[in-house]
Amino acid sequence: MNISIKLTGQPKTKPDENKLSFGKQFTDHMFLMNYDSEKGWHNPRIEPYGPLSIDPSTNVLHYGQGVFEGLKAYRTKENKVLLFRPDENAKRLKSSCERLCIPPIDQDDVVEAIVSLVKTDIDWVPSSAGTSLYIRPFIISTDPFLGVHPSHTYLFMIILSPVGPYYPTGLNPTSIYVEDFYKRASKGGMGHVKTMGNYAASLIAQEKAIKLNCIQTLWLDAHEGRYIEEVGAMNVFFVIGDKVVTPELSGSILPGITRKSTLEIAKSLGYKTEERKITIDEVIEALESSEMKECFGTGTAAVISPVGELIYKDIRHTINNNKIGTISQTLYDTLTGIQYGTIKDTRGWTVEV
Ligand SMILES: *Cc1c(COP(=O)(O)O)cnc(C)c1O
Repeated sequence: MNISIKLTGQPKTKPDENKLSFGKQFTDHMFLMNYDSEKGWHNPRIEPYGPLSIDPSTNVLHYGQGVFEGLKAYRTKENKVLLFRPDENAKRLKSSCERLCIPPIDQDDVVEAIVSLVKTDIDWVPSSAGTSLYIRPFIISTDPFLGVHPSHTYLFMIILSPVGPYYPTGLNPTSIYVEDFYKRASKGGMGHVKTMGNYAASLIAQEKAIKLNCIQTLWLDAHEGRYIEEVGAMNVFFVIGDKVVTPELSGSILPGITRKSTLEIAKSLGYKTEERKITIDEVIEALESSEMKECFGTGTAAVISPVGELIYKDIRHTINNNKIGTISQTLYDTLTGIQYGTIKDTRGWTVEV
């Protein structure tokens, strides 16, 4: 790609690295590229970060034809900046596009766009422990037209946000509410796709969870309300007996890159892993018999997030005395070690910017 770059004349003051929140501050620049049926994807460019001007009838505002991704850039002790498996994000973006009838973008172009933008704003990659630069690529439909059909024009953008740890409480276990009324996604729907509508559908249950002092919702499948799916914006893992178990990708679960990486690392560390159907009954039984040793969520934002408590049908079940378990901690240390370059990356997962 031939990316044109227009630098800002007014760089912002960078926020205090030790007080970073999640996704509130943005860097000096953004990436944009347009699509129309004549030219295909064209005009890749980096410009000063700023508001968009769009017609009120813009398709995405009404019908939600949009997809997104999320990954991070990490600064190592040697002052290198690493991306973690950006090719996987580019691949998933492509499959999200296919489900939403959006013309896909060449995977190498997506990675190139990410690398160029991070390079442009490289000084924004923070260096304090636990901080990183969150990268948000997204595509929206832009036809100014009120009609339900795939748009003919699209905008691909990338924005960057320096972030602190996802949960301000750090690696402390969280409480999770098992939602048994609302459903996130059904088979044949869009649960396996990173699209905005899935999140809109989840908000009402999250509000319920927050009222119960829970940080997220654990979703059950939409058909029978029996099978564990995932947690908010994370996939979910259980340590039952000596096995690390996670729900199999059913079509309604988001195929997380952290999930995939966690499974690979767990296997290489010698843990027994299983990807299979898990019922809520099995989870509750394991909690009651103390076979449930650990539970954690996986996702780019929080990496590994231990779960200390599950609330199901008004009963609070504690896991591992509400402390982070050995396996969760080991997986967290290994994964973040690779991301921050303190553990050698033998799998070719990291890409230097
Ligand atoms: C993004 C996301 C995840 C986690 O995926 P990662 O690639 O590990 O960041 C899990 N569930 C949902 C619903 C998501 O949107």
